[in-house]
Amino acid sequence: MKEGVYRSTEAMIAALKPSYPVYCVNTKAMRQAAQAFCAGFPGDVLYAVKCNPHPLVLKALHAGGVHHFDTASLPEVALVRELFPDAQLYFNHPIKVRPHIRMAHTVYGVRHYVIDCRAELDKVIQEADGAKDATILVRMATPAAGAAFHLSAKFGAAPQECVELLQAVREVGLKPGLAFHVGSQCINPQAYTIALRVVGDVLQSARVDLACLDVGGGFPAAYTGTEIPPLSKFFTAIKTGLKTLKLPPSCAILAEPGRALVADSVSLVVQILQRRDERLYINDGVYHSLSETVSGGIRLPTRLIRLEGGAPSNEMADYTLYGPTCDSTDVLPHPYALPADAREGDWIELGRAGAYTSALVSHFNGFHPETYIELDSES
Ligand SMILES: *Cc1c(COP(=O)(O)O)cnc(C)c1O
Repeated sequence: MKEGVYRSTEAMIAALKPSYPVYCVNTKAMRQAAQAFCAGFPGDVLYAVKCNPHPLVLKALHAGGVHHFDTASLPEVALVRELFPDAQLYFNHPIKVRPHIRMAHTVYGVRHYVIDCRAELDKVIQEADGAKDATILVRMATPAAGAAFHLSAKFGAAPQECVELLQAVREVGLKPGLAFHVGSQCINPQAYTIALRVVGDVLQSARVDLACLDVGGGFPAAYTGTEIPPLSKFFTAIKTGLKTLKLPPSCAILAEPGRALVADSVSLVVQILQRRDERLYINDGVYHSLSETVSGGIRLPTRLIRLEGGAPSNEMADYTLYGPTCDSTDVLPHPYALPADAREGDWIELGRAGAYTSALVSHFNGFHPETYIELDSES
């Protein structure tokens, strides 16, 4: 077997006995998730790189048919371009760093840019040398409807502003597009229906020919304690909404999923450093892989793994999990059920840990989880 590739989580633990957190990517499952999304979505699928930019992840998604990427900074643009010379890159951050636009345009061939105000349109035109062959997507704010993270609180133009911006894009001779994001971990397919209805209103007033319509990300993962509709329900809501818009066939339809493509096929293996009553001190926490347990109230499934000294108890207990830093706020907000005899040295596998985990780690207190291994049950 190749270095860094293991048959199972247990095989990895037996080989490495890791005292540091380890992210385990099931590359086959991730490839299949990408294939399923691409098969079900009625348009081009852009992976939102910020969600998890690890090369193992990017390569698995690319192998699953994702060849378009939503990037927000020059380092993301460069990372994807260097891995995949054939990829199509979109610069979908509404407030871009000026030199990032210049480099993205001249060096990396980016031709799609998101804006949500006139100043950003002017900035793109200035920095991208007139942006003559570019498509400019206007980011529209959406009403809050069932997402754990409401992304329109920060970016997005109101419908009337979108009308003016679309017309401004046309007036300067560039191709207009429209984009929105219903918010991350959105468990309500109707959020897309509502947003597409607003798109209909905007288009009726703007009277421009759209070059593309981007329905964003937001598709959810099945975290502990959350019932989520299957992806097909989201695709049906989107297809139904699109039909009423009567877009010309030349209008490209795009989605920018992050979480839904990668959450399920990565697990995170952490180790118990110490037990005090029903408190477990582990080697990862809210300043590292697990900040979304606080910011999004997210709960990951857990499983105890013990290699020596017999199987863990069948009896379960509820524990509070503390992170490794000296900060008292480094504690997960929900209780976690694990065997009643959990103890120092045991490992805990946290499931569905592919999205917004390693992407958000800090170096606080000298801890910095970064080890990725590949699980390959076939070889
Ligand atoms: C974060 C983000 C995404 C990905 O969102 P998910 O909820 O992970 O699907 C897509 N597009 C934009 C513009 C984003 O900011």
